[in-house]
Amino acid sequence: MEKLLEVKNLETSFKTSAGEVHAVRGVSFDLEKGEALGIVGESGCGKSVTMMSIMRLLADNGRLAGGEIFFNGKDISNVKESEMETIRGNDIGMIFQDPMTSLNPVYTIGDQLMEPLLKHRKISKAEARKEAINMLGLVGIPSPEKRMKQYPHEFSGGMRQRAMIAMSLICAPKLIIADEPTTALDVTIQAQILDLMKDLKQKLDTAIILITHDLGVVADVCTKINVMYGGIIVETGTTEDIFYRGKHPYTWGLLRSVPNPKEDVKEKLIPIEGQPPDLLNPPVGCPFAARCDYAMKVCLQKQPPLFEVGEKHHTACWLCHEDAPKVESPIRRMK
Ligand code: SF4
Repeated sequence: MEKLLEVKNLETSFKTSAGEVHAVRGVSFDLEKGEALGIVGESGCGKSVTMMSIMRLLADNGRLAGGEIFFNGKDISNVKESEMETIRGNDIGMIFQDPMTSLNPVYTIGDQLMEPLLKHRKISKAEARKEAINMLGLVGIPSPEKRMKQYPHEFSGGMRQRAMIAMSLICAPKLIIADEPTTALDVTIQAQILDLMKDLKQKLDTAIILITHDLGVVADVCTKINVMYGGIIVETGTTEDIFYRGKHPYTWGLLRSVPNPKEDVKEKLIPIEGQPPDLLNPPVGCPFAARCDYAMKVCLQKQPPLFEVGEKHHTACWLCHEDAPKVESPIRRMK
C-alpha cells in the first residue's frame, strides 16, 4: 500500500505568558491511501493540535518545534504558505464541529461549492455548477438544484454538516480531516453523518482522519486508531486491537463508556478521575501516572516507550514490559 501521510516525531508548542506549552511531544504515525484513522482522546490531549500542525493552521503563538510531515512523499513542514494553501484547497479537505466556521453566511451554498472548483480547477461556470449539484446529491441533500440557491441559515444543523462535507469533498481531495464532525448533532443525525462518511470513503476512496473524544464514533468508520494522552500517542492499533485487546489503562478508561460494537453492551460508566497533565511542565515519566490505578515506581521516573504488543499494535505503558506484573483488563469484553 502507498503511504499518503507520514508524520515523524512531530513536536508543537505554544508560547504563553506562563511559558511554553508542549502540546504535541514526539508524535509519529502514517496513513495509507484510502485508509481511515481515528485519533481519540480527551480535550487538550493534542489531537486537534496535531492536525492543525499538519495543515499549518496553528494560532499565531504556536510553532512546529520539531519533526517532519510527508504528504504524498513530499515534506510539507517547510513549504511556502502559498503552496500550503493549494494543498489545503485541493488535496486535503477539512470538516469541523461547527459548519458555520466553514460556511460563509452571506453567500449561497451553490456559490460556496463552486468557488474552489473555479479557483483550483479552471473549469467553466456551467461545469462547476453541475459538479456542485452532483456533490450535494451525493451527500444526501434532497432537491440539490433548489438548495444551491439557499443560504446556510436556511439549512438545518444536519443539512449544514452535509453541505460542509460536500464542500470538503468538492475538489476530490486525497485526505479528509474531520475534527469532532458530529459532536454538535443529535444522536440520529450523528449516525447518519457517520454512515455518510463511511459510504463516501468507499465510493471516492478518500483517506480520512477522524478526530474525536468519543471512541464509539470511530468504531464504525475507522480501521485503525491512535489514542492520545498528554501530547503523545499512548496506544495505536487496528480498531479490533483497541476495542478487544487494548492494553493501556487510559484506553480502558475510554472504553468503559462505549457500547461493545459486537453486542451493543455498555460497560459500567466510570469516569476517569483527576486532571490531564500540565503541559507547561510535562511529567518526566508516564503522563497518565497521576490518574492511573496501576502506576508503579518506574512510571514516575521514565516515559514508557511504545512496546510492540501485536502485529500493528503498540502501547506506551510499563505494564507491557516483560518484567511487569501481569494485570488483567477490567473491560468485560476483553476477559
Ligand atoms: Fe499506568 Fe504506569 Fe502504564 Fe502509565 S506506564 S499507564 S502509570 S501503569
